[in-house]
Amino acid sequence: MTIQAYGAQAADQPLQPLAITRRAPGAHDVQIAIAYCGVCHSDIHQVRSEWAGTLFPCVPGHEIVGRVAAVGAQVSGFAPGDLVGVGCIVDSCRHCADCGDGLENYCDHMIGTYNGPTPDAPGHTLGGYSQQIVVHERYVLRVRHPAAQLNAVAPLLCAGITTYSPLRHWKVGLGHKVGVVGIGGLGHMGIKLARAMGAHVVAFTTSESKRDAARALGAHEVVVSRNRGEMKAHAASLDFILNTVAAPHDLDPFFALLRRDGTMALVGAPASPHPPSNVFSLIMKRRSLAGSLIGGIPETQEMLDFCAEHGIVADVEMIRADEINAAYERMLKGDVKYRFVIDCASLAP
Ligand code: NAP
Ligand code: ZN
Ligand code: ZN
Repeated sequence: MTIQAYGAQAADQPLQPLAITRRAPGAHDVQIAIAYCGVCHSDIHQVRSEWAGTLFPCVPGHEIVGRVAAVGAQVSGFAPGDLVGVGCIVDSCRHCADCGDGLENYCDHMIGTYNGPTPDAPGHTLGGYSQQIVVHERYVLRVRHPAAQLNAVAPLLCAGITTYSPLRHWKVGLGHKVGVVGIGGLGHMGIKLARAMGAHVVAFTTSESKRDAARALGAHEVVVSRNRGEMKAHAASLDFILNTVAAPHDLDPFFALLRRDGTMALVGAPASPHPPSNVFSLIMKRRSLAGSLIGGIPETQEMLDFCAEHGIVADVEMIRADEINAAYERMLKGDVKYRFVIDCASLAP
């Protein structure tokens, strides 16, 4: 089936309309009519070849929501009309220890929703800036939010799970003081989720203009991280820091905020390394530096259900597909509160 999409032919080209093909649904496949797709900073990193290995044409998008259009003969968990989501993963080996643990995100053969190998044309996966997608049922998520909130659910499929997973792994909850660094698409979800888990949340931003906005998201305190005095007030007091910043920056001022045995988990994935850190920042209070990659399929379902139960969605600004290049420029300036979401109906010719 040929459908409309938006993508780039090369790293230095703007995104433009593309006609792409999707496979006919196999026995275990779910064909989804995409309603909305969130715009993740990883889309910019990849479509511009800032990380190694981007294949072209590149159709980004891994924050996908829509309705089931058709199902294969063996699919029992989904039916036409169901509200569903697809995140960053569309396949994995299904038999390694990571897949067995429901941590497909750490499978060596995890297939990304775009830019991953596939027998389908053109030989690599094409993402959610498109009208339809066909995905094996194992990697399809059920959306239990009201249909009217569907556009604001889309960012949960990457920004939501990427922040939920480390908050759960490091057991954030009541009695914890948690820092969220970088208040963009990921960071604003980190604030909402950490708050809903019961933590005391401190937001760290470089943008003075986000001071009030971060409080409105649920942060108990907001620190403008360029202000040394404000930073010092939180010295050695945080149990956990979730760092979502999309650009290289000095990590040492944030290590200094961790209490003894505290951990900073990096989820931001800048194209070039952070400046070197002073090892004493870690040694002195037995602090840890960690990383975390999205989340597995069962945990993504758990996160969606947690958000439905707590009434959590993303704060979104809706765009048409033909506004995507301008949206990227605004994201690079930090000028979005907090996630652009493409209305995929705008792809119709
Ligand atoms: P985003 O919406 O663009 O937000 C990034 C935030 O980082 C900005 O809002 C800004 O926050 C801060 N920031 C940006 N440039 C900065 C700079 N030069 N100096 C200091 N702070 C800066 O991006 P996102 O979609 O949340 O993604 C964030 C990062 O996470 C990206 O690198 C993305 O590729 C990565 N990511 C990783 C995973 C994973 O599995 N680990 C999953 C998804 C995304 P303030 O204005 O508040 O300072
Ligand atoms: Zn993403
Ligand atoms: Zn596996």
